[in-house]
Amino acid sequence: MHTARPPFLYVIALGSNRPHGHHGRPASVIAAARSYLSGPAVALLASSPIIASAPVGPSLRTYANSACLIRSCLMPPALLAGLKSIEREFGRRRGQRWGNRVLDLDIILWSGGRWQSRNLTIPHRLWRERDFVVSPVASLVPAWRDPLTGLTTRQLAFRHNRPIPVDPSSKRA
Ligand code: ADP
Ligand code: MG
Repeated sequence: MHTARPPFLYVIALGSNRPHGHHGRPASVIAAARSYLSGPAVALLASSPIIASAPVGPSLRTYANSACLIRSCLMPPALLAGLKSIEREFGRRRGQRWGNRVLDLDIILWSGGRWQSRNLTIPHRLWRERDFVVSPVASLVPAWRDPLTGLTTRQLAFRHNRPIPVDPSSKRA
């Protein structure tokens, strides 16, 4: 399925929309979680800026997102297991999907191209639709290509941020 040899490069997306008792607001949770991405099995090579978005709708939760580039000899399932244990350290409970979470760590891309196993799909199946993932990833590794679409992360980000054309003859322009 892949031909890459270790060490591998991985792009990890970090997200938070709940404060943590000790670390505080979501942006601080992300900053704290980044330090967990360097250890004996993993080297943190680069981090994107942390983007924060204002609360939308009734949830009143601020969101914070970032992306990190790491190097590791771990195969994807072993890395995912490590990321899940970091999520648990930050108080994320099993089965909490989509909604509020102190910390979400996703594997977005890796140097091996595609990966598919029972609980793990790389590239992450929803990442192209999530601007809060695409923007940080594009700022981190603009020239990496998404193996599914063949587009660079920069092109994917441009697709999100493309200005909407205005018809100058329209009264509303
Ligand atoms: P999401 O990240 O899409 O908001 P969750 O964090 O709740 O959703 O993830 C649910 C499950 O998705 C995880 O338990 C994991 O097994 C699976 N999964 C599949 N592909 C990936 C990936 N690339 N990165 C992280 N988790 C993944
Ligand atoms: Mg996740």
